[in-house]
Amino acid sequence: MSLSNTLSKIQSAESNAGRPTGSTKLIAVSKVQPLERVRAVLDQGHRIFGENKVQEAAGKWPDLRAEYGPVEVHLLGPLQTNKARQAMELFDAIHTLDRPKLATTFARLTKEVGRCPKLFVQVNTGAEEQKAGVSVDEADGFIAMCVGLGLPVVGLMCIPPFDEDPNLHFALLAEIAARNQLSELSMGMSSDFEVAIKAGATYVRVGSAIFGARSYD
Ligand SMILES: *Cc1c(COP(=O)(O)O)cnc(C)c1O
Repeated sequence: MSLSNTLSKIQSAESNAGRPTGSTKLIAVSKVQPLERVRAVLDQGHRIFGENKVQEAAGKWPDLRAEYGPVEVHLLGPLQTNKARQAMELFDAIHTLDRPKLATTFARLTKEVGRCPKLFVQVNTGAEEQKAGVSVDEADGFIAMCVGLGLPVVGLMCIPPFDEDPNLHFALLAEIAARNQLSELSMGMSSDFEVAIKAGATYVRVGSAIFGARSYD
């Protein structure tokens, strides 16, 4: 359980899959983790992190960036429309574009903010009631709408159901990305990032395997 261990597992998975070293980027998911654990990973030179909440990220990353220099921070959790502007100012990438209202809000705010983070469309591959993301059936139409609005959509993201073989979900996400000419695939977490790399992940989102278990109290 550490950064170096995770990085070496990623490298082996890339090599086993016949993929070039470095073709998978590691997002170190620092949500809820104590600051000293986050600093330890920064001190080892890692510069790509993921957060689930705008508020939590806003309380952490402006200071850490001032101290450590440029750090790429990705938003991985659901985004309320009224926090879109703050998210656009804070994050380098947003993995949870999941509805037309958010897409039109990003498009409208891009001029005012002066930039738009890289965007991933979240797809609810397991058709789970409680999970965000566009349905598999709506994905092509929604991606086309976002591209039509001029949004910088670079890829797709999914979170497979806990109790299912993630392979089918990763393969489905890869297929939707390919037919929409999107090159980035955000898939795979601590429990399944090696499987995701085999299925073509270009970003894996790993938290507990790097930082240790999250404590919510
Ligand atoms: C928390 C979270 C992760 C990391 O989960 P681990 O199991 O700790 O690796 C990845 N992706 C999303 C969307 C998350 O919310």
